[in-house]
Amino acid sequence: MVNCPQPMQTLIQCLSGLPGIGEKTAIRLALFIMNQPEVDAMQLARSIIDVREKVSLCRKCFNFSDSDLCSICSNTKRDPGVLCVVESPGDLMAIEKTSHYRGRYHVLQGVIAPLEGIGPDQLKIRELVQRIDIDQIKEVILATNPTVNGNATALYISQQLLVSGVKITRIAQGVPSGGDIEYIDEVTLRNALDGRREMK
Ligand SMILES: [Zn+2]
Repeated sequence: MVNCPQPMQTLIQCLSGLPGIGEKTAIRLALFIMNQPEVDAMQLARSIIDVREKVSLCRKCFNFSDSDLCSICSNTKRDPGVLCVVESPGDLMAIEKTSHYRGRYHVLQGVIAPLEGIGPDQLKIRELVQRIDIDQIKEVILATNPTVNGNATALYISQQLLVSGVKITRIAQGVPSGGDIEYIDEVTLRNALDGRREMK
């Protein structure tokens, strides 16, 4: 550990525990915070405390929220009959950024990952099944990642929802915009061909 006052050592240690931050970057960030105007450094500290004290999970969709219902669940302009199922709040934020989706969400808080010991009961799948009837959902869009675990989770959920008769869709998988077909892997190309749409 670098030779500096104990409080700085603690800060460096905390910062280097963040994802993608090594000791060198942690030292640089700690020095930056030391050189910042005190008011800015205090705001940073307070925002970390606030986020942990005031933000929890929405009662309905399990998105991050600072009240009982998140801003999407309580927004009456959003279509209450369509649910987009995502793995994490980060995925929800990415879809929201597109400003293209006007339904609501259900955040699973993970995916089924047998190798890591994560089964359906550790996710918010039971709550999703219950929502279909309670909220009179008409369509469920499965937007888990197109990974082995994400696909398996989508399949599991679709089986669980089969009996409800709700319309179940899966997000398209294929060629990314700006992509070059020559360099795209076979699985993605196969999915792109399977998921082709008629041009109108
Ligand atoms: Zn919500």
